[in-house]
Amino acid sequence: MLQANAIPQFRAQLRGELISPDDQSYEGARKVYNAMIDRKPALIAKCADVADVIAALRFGRENSLRVSIRGGGHNAGGLGVCDDGLVIDLSLIRYVHVDAEARQVRVGGGSTWGDVDHATHAFGLAVPSGIISTTGVGGLTLGGGLGHLTRKYGLTIDSLLSADVVLADGRCVVASQEENSDLFWAIRGGGGNFGVVTSFLFQAHPVHTVCAGPMLWELDQAPDLMKWYREFIVSAPEDISGFFAFMTVPPGPPFPEALHMKKMCAIVWCCTTSMEQANQILDPLRNYLPPAFEFFVPMPFPMLQSMFDGLYPPGLQWYWKADFVNELEDQAIELHVRHGSRLPTLFSTMHLYPINGAAHRHANDETPWKYRDAVWSEVIVGVDPDPANRELITNWAREYWEALHPYGAGGAYVNFMMDEGTDRIRATYGENYGRLATIKAAYDPGNFFNVNQNIEPAVGGSM
Ligand SMILES: Cc1cc2nc3c(=O)[nH]c(=O)nc-3n(C[C@H](O)[C@H](O)[C@H](O)COP(=O)(O)OP(=O)(O)OC[C@H]3O[C@@H](n4cnc5c(N)ncnc54)[C@H](O)[C@@H]3O)c2cc1C
Repeated sequence: MLQANAIPQFRAQLRGELISPDDQSYEGARKVYNAMIDRKPALIAKCADVADVIAALRFGRENSLRVSIRGGGHNAGGLGVCDDGLVIDLSLIRYVHVDAEARQVRVGGGSTWGDVDHATHAFGLAVPSGIISTTGVGGLTLGGGLGHLTRKYGLTIDSLLSADVVLADGRCVVASQEENSDLFWAIRGGGGNFGVVTSFLFQAHPVHTVCAGPMLWELDQAPDLMKWYREFIVSAPEDISGFFAFMTVPPGPPFPEALHMKKMCAIVWCCTTSMEQANQILDPLRNYLPPAFEFFVPMPFPMLQSMFDGLYPPGLQWYWKADFVNELEDQAIELHVRHGSRLPTLFSTMHLYPINGAAHRHANDETPWKYRDAVWSEVIVGVDPDPANRELITNWAREYWEALHPYGAGGAYVNFMMDEGTDRIRATYGENYGRLATIKAAYDPGNFFNVNQNIEPAVGGSM
């Protein structure tokens, strides 16, 4: 129970804002991207700086409050918010500083990838991230980070140079190869288990204009396309990436009216070469299986990064299921086509993101991300604006996943999982779990940070 004067005192310590259920801004502030999540925190501390984060952590500790850390608020399972506890909201710690000469980017812990893409593009640089620009840098990076540049430059964590972390006891430390290297290892995939990251330092890469966009095929071509794709993506030049999707064609440009609302299969490409070289890579596919439609053009990288933002605004209902995949066997393709042809709503989809190329050049234990040698990260998402369709999208995603799970590699990308329990988390980290638990015991022995894909502190220092 909070003391009567505790809240005003806490409020007075903050440069940012403290929001409680009586405040008008509370309803908006407690919302996260996935409208299926409806949590009611006791307090939301919108921290303006590191000092605010330290004060918020102290307040949480002294009042035995459950604490969640909110970066961009995109997490599928709503891990940025908690019921009855304290949300440490980082959305005011939002800045990007580019050191063009060193090609390094310093990013505030509450920034979005849109912020980063905007700032780096002016210098012809980019940091590998995800495919929606409103996603938070915090959650995506700490879970690993995969997207259009994964094959070329690796996971987001492969470009992370250091991070400023506020620990459970309020200490601020730097995590890098040189300082607190165990913590640096753990945060590159171990999620928000170890502390609040107030600042990230990334290595950026020379990316400006990419040749990119979707190609679409009829559903009855899906088996041939998937068989072609499974061969192509393991031997393709690292300059090109393409994720496979089952989708319903949105009713608007650039898609021709004849295709609107049609269920189709697609590959969304991103190629860092010239258009001429990109076409040389893709012409054999065009000759073998001519697409029904393509929008493959040169575009500024941030345009690709925000291409799907309009389709997926905040406030939709989302249900996620995921797996890592090593091989796309013929039987798995058959099942994909069966379930992928039954997308229950316009926004529901299945994506297969390639995670090979540069991402494979790191050993499975170099970071906690143990499935380095998997070829794809599969995600099945039931999505719809209408809460009445919650059961429909959930059942479809579950049935699809249950059919394909036996063909998976074992675990799933933590950032594509909802609340699936301890066994799934352990399966995902595999033999890296023990080391994560030991590091958790060193930096957060009381498991203060537990609103996440939780790693339990090792008892007696090892697990
Ligand atoms: C539409 C959509 C598209 C996506 N596409 C991709 C994609 O292409 N590639 C990909 O890799 N992922 C993708 N994701 C998944 C995304 O990486 C996760 O949802 C991630 O958790 C989002 O980060 P966030 O900061 O927005 O989340 P939040 O909900 O704010 O936080 C999620 C978790 O991260 C932790 N966290 C966040 N920020 C910090 C911080 N600064 N310090 C410490 N802990 C922190 C919190 O503890 C919390 O447990 C997508 C998600 C959505 C909704």
